[in-house]
Amino acid sequence: MAGEPPLTSLCVHQDGTIGDGYLQAPRAVADTPDADVEELAAEHRFLCYQRYATDLPADGGAPTLTAQVAQARSRRPPSEPARPATCPIHYVELSATGVCSDCD
Ligand SMILES: [Zn+2]
Repeated sequence: MAGEPPLTSLCVHQDGTIGDGYLQAPRAVADTPDADVEELAAEHRFLCYQRYATDLPADGGAPTLTAQVAQARSRRPPSEPARPATCPIHYVELSATGVCSDCD
C-alpha cells in the first residue's frame, strides 16, 4: 500500500532473522537487489518505528539488527565471504559484477 512502511519487516523468525524470503518481497528489492537482507529489514523496521513509535530516542534512533542477528554476526569470523547476491526475478546467482545473465 502506497505510503506505508514495509510492515512485513517486523515479522522476524524466532531466531531473530528476517530470512531470505524477505528479499523476494517486491518492495524489498525495488532498488537494492544486492542488499544484506537483515540490514535491509532493519532499515525497514526503522521506517515503521519512525511512523508509528512514540518512544523513539531523542536523537531519532537508528536501524538496528535484532539482538540475535547482531550476536550471531559478532561471532562470525570477519573473513567469511558474503552470500552471493541473487537476481530477484530469476533467483540465480549474480556474477561478480552484479549482472544476471538471464536479465541481460
Ligand atoms: Zn535475472
